[in-house]
Amino acid sequence: MARDRNLRAAAAEHVYRLREAPPGVPRGAMDCRGRCRAITDAVPPANEPLLAPATFAASDRRMPAMRHGLAFALLAGLVAACASGPDLHELRWIDLSHDFAADTIYWPTAPGFELRVDAKGETGKGYWYESNTITTSEHGGTHLDAPVHFAKSGWTSDQIPIDRLVGPAIVVDVTKACDADRDHEVSVADLDAFEAAHGAIPEGAIVLLCTGFGRHWPDRVKYMGTDQRGLEATFLLRFPGLSPAAAKRLVARKVKAVGIDTPSIDHGKSRLFFAHRELYAANIPAFENVANLDLLPATGATVVALPMKIRGGSGGPLRIVAALPR
Ligand SMILES: [Zn+2]
Repeated sequence: MARDRNLRAAAAEHVYRLREAPPGVPRGAMDCRGRCRAITDAVPPANEPLLAPATFAASDRRMPAMRHGLAFALLAGLVAACASGPDLHELRWIDLSHDFAADTIYWPTAPGFELRVDAKGETGKGYWYESNTITTSEHGGTHLDAPVHFAKSGWTSDQIPIDRLVGPAIVVDVTKACDADRDHEVSVADLDAFEAAHGAIPEGAIVLLCTGFGRHWPDRVKYMGTDQRGLEATFLLRFPGLSPAAAKRLVARKVKAVGIDTPSIDHGKSRLFFAHRELYAANIPAFENVANLDLLPATGATVVALPMKIRGGSGGPLRIVAALPR
């Protein structure tokens, strides 16, 4: 088990050593200066939080170490490093995305991912050429749910401010409860237990629910309860989700987004999707089928979750990663 975890950690981690530029690519100058200015300009005065929305109350002292400490360390490191070129030495990157392929898990009513090879081979003109056409539902694999998915006036995929998709991660580990009951709904009691151990969930957090079901991917029966297709199969769905009351709690905490390592924020047996409705009415997007949550600490990671920017979209394929100090 530990070995498996280590292997997956090694596969998921990508440590970027930007100082080690490829041959022929000049370090610093052109590439870095633009980024340095952007980062420096983005740093607010000392009395304002970093990597946090302007809506933070000055009197809000919840989890100050996490809110300010890591975020400051990350950005300060980047800013300092920019004097000599971009330097992300101090960060480890964890890939929280499943890849898209023929076996990628989609909702039973949605067609699966398709990749059609349009060209692949030598051109006869001295160069290699590959190009594909892809077809995908918005809601399959690791993906974004935009608030409009269940809230008529909610943001569409392209309207979600980037600031809402980047922030400090809170990882609520409910693996034990979900191992005991695959229909488990993450409860207010689960959130209370997290807060008793780690402090209140801060405003602006990205809350990731680790049910442990990510380890079942891509086995549909183990992961979601059925490998059947079509509307009837939706009655066979069995996997953990977020309870409506806990969704309300997260809305009250003013979190930026919520993610889960199952196909849906509501558990598989849900027919009315109350957790979706609670979150999205408050313009809080969700990330579903998130991978590798068991590799993250309860606090201390920073999440970057950038979906395909589909105009008017109700969701979309998502590349989600987490940065940790090395
Ligand atoms: Zn979705």
